Amino acid sequence: MAVKPTKSGSRARASSSTPTLSVVVPVFNEAKGLPALHQRVAEVARYLQTKRGLDVEVVYVDDGSSDNTGDVARSLPAIPLDIQVVTLSRNFGKEAALLAGLDHAQLGAVMFMDGDGQHPPDLIDTLVARWLDDGYDVVYTAKAHRENESWLRRTGVRSFYTLLNWGARHKIPEDAGDFRLLSPRAAAALRQMPERNRFFKGLSSWIGFRQTRVDYEPAMREHGSTTWNVWTLIGLSIEGLTSFSVAPLRVASLLGLVLAFTALFFGSWILLETLLYGKDVPGYPSLVVSVMVIGGVQLILIGVLGEYIGKLLAEIKGRPVYFVAEHTVKRASESAKARPMASRAAE
Ligand code: UDP
Ligand code: MG
Repeated sequence: MAVKPTKSGSRARASSSTPTLSVVVPVFNEAKGLPALHQRVAEVARYLQTKRGLDVEVVYVDDGSSDNTGDVARSLPAIPLDIQVVTLSRNFGKEAALLAGLDHAQLGAVMFMDGDGQHPPDLIDTLVARWLDDGYDVVYTAKAHRENESWLRRTGVRSFYTLLNWGARHKIPEDAGDFRLLSPRAAAALRQMPERNRFFKGLSSWIGFRQTRVDYEPAMREHGSTTWNVWTLIGLSIEGLTSFSVAPLRVASLLGLVLAFTALFFGSWILLETLLYGKDVPGYPSLVVSVMVIGGVQLILIGVLGEYIGKLLAEIKGRPVYFVAEHTVKRASESAKARPMASRAAE
């Protein structure tokens, strides 16, 4: 059965006058820390319910964990908030898990939060306040500083955003994280984005509306270790760059132009030297060097083109971004109920 539970569901429930919030948490091998995280989220949910009458649900997306994250999530108490556990058929990656969560979120506003405790649940209240009290549609968090990161990583991040935002009409804020809240209309806009190559930070910035930033200090990971390494980070950067900007293609054109001009200048110089001074052209080394430079540059540019062609292919194939293996809903008011269904989404 094809699951698109959210579109109609979210519209129906979001249209009621009281604000509601779905917290989407992608989890990949987070069994150890999940009960503690859930307890903190539940406390915040209880507080928001009393203080603002805000109904909260949490959507755990088990991204094909190899430990018992799914079982742990399904056994969590649905007090005082509803719990959905969406188990994907395999590990699809965080971006796909976020989309699965967005598709299943039943309530009005949507918040994205990591499941490793690095995004402090205490901040949920602050983000909600910026949405409900100040009327912002996208409240994104950003690391207050990057002092504990290496120089190399900071430079990498800076270059990535410079390239990403180069010539862009809409700049994606540097340092913004995935921990963010989207108002019902912003979440609806995000759901309309059809692309399969997802880069959530970029997409939720691109949609516009009223956006604001909240600085925070990420906590240390309490259990397990990060799933990112240099290579996966480079992969994500290429993914983000190629899905958001044509800057690499422009750099390629510029490079081509610079090379062509250099060659022209060098050629004229040799010609002049020969004609005016009767000098022999030193052939072999300069020939080899120029052939190598041109060959190398051409290969790089073909690689850049290939990235974009790969993106086109992925979009044209139109495969779903994820498959759901199991979907469990626990309502706060009812006794726990589970309804497994093999399903596909994001057609
Ligand atoms: N995550 C996921 N699928 C993956 C990798 C990670 O759902 O393939 C989740 C992970 O469980 C965590 C969040 O995404 O809740 C962030 O992952 P991680 O802590 O590894 O990234 P970092 O915080 O280092 O950016
Ligand atoms: Mg983390």
